[in-house]
Amino acid sequence: MQISITKADQLKSKPDENKLGFGTIFTDHMFNMDYNVEKGWHNPRIEPYGPLSMDPSTMVLHYGQGVFEGLKAYRNKKGGIQLFRPQENFKRLNYSNRKLCIPKIDEAFALDALKQLLDVEQAWVPSQPGTSLYIRPTIIAMDPFLGVRASFTYRFFIILSPVGAYYAEGFNPVKIMVTKDHVRAVRGGVGDTKTLGNYAASLLAGDEAHKAGYTQVLWLDGVEQKYVEEVGAMNIFFVIDDELITPMLSGSILPGITRDSVVALGQSWGLKVSERKISIDEVMDAHASGHLKEIFGSGTAAVISPVGELKYEDTVITVGDGQVGPLAHRFFEAIQEIQYGAIEGPAGWIE
Ligand code: PMP
Repeated sequence: MQISITKADQLKSKPDENKLGFGTIFTDHMFNMDYNVEKGWHNPRIEPYGPLSMDPSTMVLHYGQGVFEGLKAYRNKKGGIQLFRPQENFKRLNYSNRKLCIPKIDEAFALDALKQLLDVEQAWVPSQPGTSLYIRPTIIAMDPFLGVRASFTYRFFIILSPVGAYYAEGFNPVKIMVTKDHVRAVRGGVGDTKTLGNYAASLLAGDEAHKAGYTQVLWLDGVEQKYVEEVGAMNIFFVIDDELITPMLSGSILPGITRDSVVALGQSWGLKVSERKISIDEVMDAHASGHLKEIFGSGTAAVISPVGELKYEDTVITVGDGQVGPLAHRFFEAIQEIQYGAIEGPAGWIE
C-alpha cells in the first residue's frame, strides 16, 4: 500500500529542548489509516496534525474499544534517528487488538509507516541528553452507534511528541504504596493489553497514593491480593540477595518491552534472573531479614525507576538505604546507551 503524504502549509516553531515536559507538544504531521469491512485497512496517509472529527455516538467514546502503544525515537551520536525494539510494540498492539476485537494490522507495514512519518518529522527528534520523540500509535472504534458490540469501522493513527529527560532533577528513588483497596487487573481480563480502560481504572488508586504522599501504587494480584504485579504503569523488579526477580506474566500483567530487555540483559550478564510469583509478604520478610537489596520499576517513559520507600499496610520500609541501587543504575545506563546508540545492544534491538 502506498502512503500518501500531504504536507502542512505552515510548520510550528520547535520547542526549547531544555524545557520539554511530557506529552503536551505535538509535531506538524500524523499518520492516519482507516478500516472498514469491505476494504480492510485502507487509505494510509501522512497529513497535517489536527483534531479528529467524530460523531458524539462514536463507539470508542462510550465503550472504550481502543488500544495504543508507547515507544520512542532517539537521536543517536551520529545525528541519525533510531528506534528501540519497535517490532515488539506493533506485535503487542496486535495482541491488544485481538483481545479488544479490533482487526489486526500488518506489523511490518505499520513500522514502515512510522518510519516514513519520522522521515517527514525528523527535525522534531530532539538531541539534548535524555530527550526523545515519544510515539503514540492508537486504534479506536469509529462506528456511530450506541449498541454494545465490536465496531465495524476503525481509525489507526500515530502521533509524535517531543519529550524531555524523565529525570530532569536527577535519577532519584520514588516512594510507592501498596494498595489493597483497588486492583488493576485480573487474569482473563485485559490487564495484559494496552487498552484505554486499564488506565482510567488506575486513576483513583493513583490519586489516593498521591494524597498519601506516594508517587506510585504497587498493584497486587486481583484475586488473593497477595502477589505483586506492577508498579504504577511500569513492571517491577526486586533484588533479593543475588536473585533478580520480576513477577511472571500471569495474564494480568502488561508484558513490558523494557521488562523483557532487563530480563535479557540480566541473563546475558550472568545474573540469576527469575520470572516467578513473588508475594508482598516475601518482599517484607526479605527486608526484615536484610536480604532485600533493591526494588525498581521498568518502562519506556523512565526506563528504570528506583524505589526508595515502600508502604504496605502500617509498615513503611526504606529500600537500599533509600539510594539508587547498583543494578538499577547498571540497567538504566546500559539500556539508555543502547537506545541512544552509544553501545550496540543484542542483535535486532535497534531499527
Ligand atoms: N505496565 C503498564 C501498565 C504500562 O502501561 C507500561 C507502559 N507501556 C509498562 C508496564 C511498561 O511497558 P514498556 O516497557 O513496554 O513501556
